[in-house]
Amino acid sequence: MSKRDYYEVLKISRTATQVEIKQAYRKKAMKYHPDRNQGDPEAEAKFKEVNEAYDVLKDEQKKAAYDQYGHDAFQNGGPGAGGFGAGGFGDIFDMFGDMMGMRRGGQGQRRTGADIQIQTEIELTEAFSGVKKTVKFQSKKSCTSCNGSGSEDKAKGSQTCPTCHGSGKIRSQNGFFLVERPCHTCHGSGQVISNPCKKCQGTGLESQEKELEIDIPAGIEDGTRIRIAGEGEAGSNGTPPGDLYVHVSVLPHDIFQRDGGTIFCRIPVRMTQAALGAEIEVPIIDGGRTKVKIPTGTQSGKQFRLRGKGFSVLRSSSRGDMYIEVKVETPQNLTKRQKELLEEFEKESQDGHEQGSPETSGFFSKVRDFFEGKS
Ligand SMILES: [Zn+2]
Ligand SMILES: [Zn+2]
Repeated sequence: MSKRDYYEVLKISRTATQVEIKQAYRKKAMKYHPDRNQGDPEAEAKFKEVNEAYDVLKDEQKKAAYDQYGHDAFQNGGPGAGGFGAGGFGDIFDMFGDMMGMRRGGQGQRRTGADIQIQTEIELTEAFSGVKKTVKFQSKKSCTSCNGSGSEDKAKGSQTCPTCHGSGKIRSQNGFFLVERPCHTCHGSGQVISNPCKKCQGTGLESQEKELEIDIPAGIEDGTRIRIAGEGEAGSNGTPPGDLYVHVSVLPHDIFQRDGGTIFCRIPVRMTQAALGAEIEVPIIDGGRTKVKIPTGTQSGKQFRLRGKGFSVLRSSSRGDMYIEVKVETPQNLTKRQKELLEEFEKESQDGHEQGSPETSGFFSKVRDFFEGKS
């Protein structure tokens, strides 16, 4: 089945503002929310579709990519493929829940520890080849004094929370939905600590600086978010840890520009090389080089395609193409001899050799016509 246009899914115009996008999403998500459509697979599919569309359109960067390339922008790891860290249905509920101001409680416990968001920068060449990057960040681990229980007294430990009777959540009706909120007394753990640990004040957590080597895949785009499950903050009371999200920025390169799998490089050539034809050496993003023949009479701005010499494509062994653009450079600071030669050359060009510069002579014949009133 072909994918529907995200704007169409949310029934909004391509010029919709973020506020309008959010409103449209809210409306659609409520309509298709599984709580209201128990066991209806069509509604479930629609709910997923709506969430996928919103996941892209709410993010300016993803939206820009989508506006330009459509679904192709994500074919190597779109929201559905998990490339942006959206790991399936669970995340959708989180996204919806965050927006509606609710959290899904799980088995009477706080679901997980907190997620951590960090930034890292890599070179374009590293994005090409893929790279292992060591990142350092502040995190929280289980308190070493109380083993994460939060209680000073290991024997007594914690007691069942009197507010929620251990379930960790309180239910209430909110519009269409039965909403579950974490219990405010025990913060969702279902347990209260009678004698809090002095080291962690009963949180069960302790700050730590963490270092982690992460694998950045070849072909990664600037602005991609990598999710590393379980590397976030530890959960309290031994609940699972949160996730780590690494936002990867790819630094601009001095000579190469990248657009998806395509690499551009502008190469200056001497006026005489362009006129006489030449073989020039071209640098390749993989660190190699290749020779390219510039034909006689090459104009400035002329592009040449080098197949398969472009950027790596995410999760694929293929590569895009490279385009070089020739920039003809007019010589400066001429020597006496160069000046003589060029003056002679110029004289030869004026003496009726019009086919040597067809654009120039064509232009000036139009100028003549213009002054003579023909056009
Ligand atoms: Zn402690
Ligand atoms: Zn409670």
